[in-house]
Amino acid sequence: MARGIVALVLLAAGIFAAYEVVENPANQLFGKTLVSGPADRRVVALTYDDGPNPPYTDQILEVLRAEHVRATFFVVGRAVEAYPGVVQREAAGGNAIGNHTWSHGHLVLYDAGGLRRTLERTDAAIYAATKQHTRIMRPPFGSRDWLVLDEVRKLGYTPVMWSVPLANDWEYPPAHVIASRVLHYARDGAIIALHDGNRGIICGARVSPRTCDRSADVEATRLIVETLKREGYRFVTIPELLRMENGSPIRTAGRAAE
Ligand SMILES: [Zn+2]
Repeated sequence: MARGIVALVLLAAGIFAAYEVVENPANQLFGKTLVSGPADRRVVALTYDDGPNPPYTDQILEVLRAEHVRATFFVVGRAVEAYPGVVQREAAGGNAIGNHTWSHGHLVLYDAGGLRRTLERTDAAIYAATKQHTRIMRPPFGSRDWLVLDEVRKLGYTPVMWSVPLANDWEYPPAHVIASRVLHYARDGAIIALHDGNRGIICGARVSPRTCDRSADVEATRLIVETLKREGYRFVTIPELLRMENGSPIRTAGRAAE
């Protein structure tokens, strides 16, 4: 009986350890991803997932504009189709757009054809809104395996993860908590991931307003930008970070496991 319990506990610990490795955004087990930029440059990349999501995305754009800072938005195709004007404004402001799939599914559940369709359909919506194609993508939930990353690369995309541990902004902490969680790990070459939407959900009359409330991310953006600017950081988009990386050996293993 006791031996059985010990075996079960060990099994659970093993599964948990494996899960931690697989889910770690810095793990390169399944193929190369961009986790962070040059560790010797005073730059950071702000990224936003899961939008567009009015009015919060525009409020973030307003903060970025006022601070003369550019970011990268990993957009969900179905929300791009619903709000093309917001994505157009993101691009018009000099921000970069990345592909976050059509419906925010777990990509490990897709076959090659499904992966191609979800990325291509999203890119078509981005192109309709901005007249630009994107070649960067972020897998929803960071979920990936060999097949996913292989297919993503074949389609010409660079998969982009993050180096600053997620601030769990989807659990509605106050802005100063989101900001301090991010600032604690921000360093040269860091990629920061925040959320301007909630898995690309279209917030109409049938969805609780709280589901889409990203007002704390708007204020956290202001706090993060003001603080990092004071510390001498320059904000770059993911394509800019990739161009910097191409000049030096790609450092893919991040420090997110700290
Ligand atoms: Zn997402």
